[in-house]
Amino acid sequence: MIPTVSSAQDRGEQIFRGIGVSPGVVRGRIVVMDHNHGERPARRQLDSEQLPAELELLQNALAETRREISAIQSQVQSGMGASESAIFDAHLLVLEDSTLLEEVKRFVETEKVNVAYAFHEVAEKYAHALGSVEDEYLRERAADIRDVTSRVLGHLSGHRSQDLSHLTEPYILVGHDLTPSQTASLDRNLAQGFATDVGGKTSHTAIMAGSLRIPAVVGLKATSENVATGDYVLLDGFNGVLVINPTDQTLFEYGQLEKEQENLQDKLAEIRDAPAITLDGHEIMLSANVEQITDTVAVVECGAQGVGLFRTEYLFLDRKTLPNEEEQYTSYQRVAKAIAPEPVIFRTLDIGADKISHAIGETDEANPFLGWRAIRFCLARPDIFRTQLRALLRASAGGNVKLMYPMISGVDELDQANELLEECKAELRAEGAAFDEDLEVGIMIEIPSAVLTANALGAHAKFFSIGTNDLIQYTFAVDRLNEKVADLYDPTHPALLRLLQMTIDAGQRHGIWTGVCGEMAGDPNAVPLLIGLGVNELSVAPTMLPQIKYLIRRLKHTETQELALQALQCESSMDVLVQSRALVQRAAPGIFHTVL
Ligand code: PEP
Ligand code: MG
Repeated sequence: MIPTVSSAQDRGEQIFRGIGVSPGVVRGRIVVMDHNHGERPARRQLDSEQLPAELELLQNALAETRREISAIQSQVQSGMGASESAIFDAHLLVLEDSTLLEEVKRFVETEKVNVAYAFHEVAEKYAHALGSVEDEYLRERAADIRDVTSRVLGHLSGHRSQDLSHLTEPYILVGHDLTPSQTASLDRNLAQGFATDVGGKTSHTAIMAGSLRIPAVVGLKATSENVATGDYVLLDGFNGVLVINPTDQTLFEYGQLEKEQENLQDKLAEIRDAPAITLDGHEIMLSANVEQITDTVAVVECGAQGVGLFRTEYLFLDRKTLPNEEEQYTSYQRVAKAIAPEPVIFRTLDIGADKISHAIGETDEANPFLGWRAIRFCLARPDIFRTQLRALLRASAGGNVKLMYPMISGVDELDQANELLEECKAELRAEGAAFDEDLEVGIMIEIPSAVLTANALGAHAKFFSIGTNDLIQYTFAVDRLNEKVADLYDPTHPALLRLLQMTIDAGQRHGIWTGVCGEMAGDPNAVPLLIGLGVNELSVAPTMLPQIKYLIRRLKHTETQELALQALQCESSMDVLVQSRALVQRAAPGIFHTVL
């Protein structure tokens, strides 16, 4: 049962606007995630022989928390000064507090319970006692204890989402933030939708929502502070709206929208197996983006011509140890077999930035998106990279497999990656293990330096797949996760169009194809521009694919080419957007939904 402790029940309808990142409309009661100090962890009863291992988990979590706090402390010290950083001394002291730690240990041993539960119970008892005294200094120590507790619990759980396992009824999750791996572990049967204060359209949390087919709105600013568990809401993932206490009128209007949706769904079902071909006969390869092995069912159902981007890093998230070669091989092979004879483009590990693997450890970087991520990480950790390359090569024997490397910034990185790949091939040949000798290897174009050297890169790659999510972020210096700068994240900006054109031209000069696998490929307003610029392939979320196919089949290639030519002359992205949108509205009026 979701408790009804509504803060909004006496208020009328309230509308919060954010960014719609996964389509669909849902209504129901919400559960609010507490991002300050998390919900109480579930109590798990253990056997006596499990206790030593459980207590060891605590030691590891304490050590990891200590490292984390010290790193923050030195960052604050150099950026803000010693007095500000002193607060972290108090946090470190909590971790050394032998009375508290002894009590947690005793609790685990006598009650035979999991350490997360024991730690929360004991720490909360201290925090509660301190929080109610007169002395301001002591009261502040309660906040320190809670802060440290949330970090320790985070490490104990591998940063899993707060425990929602006690919920048995459908809910809509509202919170300040959700990590991609938290999103991935939501129970699809119960989580009807989610809404977060932070995040942008191309955050991996948003992408994950799309692939889970969970309607979602992000970038709602401080909404999570204005609602409470039990509030009744309507969540509109098309338009990025969260309505608290929707009126009958609002519910009626949404009912109409749902009817329109049903009609459109019928039309989309009719063209499921038809090609993505324009009215004047120009065919676009339309494939799907996939994050998890189980998504292959959705790929087949949506009528995709294969997988244009398989984000392999999701196999590495939300776990404490790395997947070995055998485990990876089994997973990749399953995907390749499920999609064969259509191709699957496996993107090699793009760990880092907002996709943190606890099996690899904390990196504590000041600018993770500019840091140790993707191919940079893989080239620095050949042990991990080679294991993956070997597994992928072996999987290529049982399907139509292609590889691509993420975040290539220039030819040297590509050469190094290819050298490792050749070494792995040689090993497999020596072992007599089968793989596809003609395996095609392409690269993602997602850093401006790759666009500027695309002519050279084209000589070493079999295809280009443009990662607009990152290419936009790195071109405009706009953090793709930061809702405050979301309006600067601008797919129709003339600068971006020129980068796309340069890439496509370079590809054509080398006789290789160019695709787009960033979210831009699934944005109806961008599709005519991409086709007009000469993109050969679009890889989109399975949820968006039928709509995009419907649109392509209603466009003329010649009119998209005219549009692209005009767009390249435009000075403002608004002019580009207006023209492209007008074309889409004319060609496929039913695919936009605006209610409120
Ligand atoms: C991209 O950057 O556009 C892309 C497809 O990769 P990711 O979103 O995983 O960074
Ligand atoms: Mg990327």
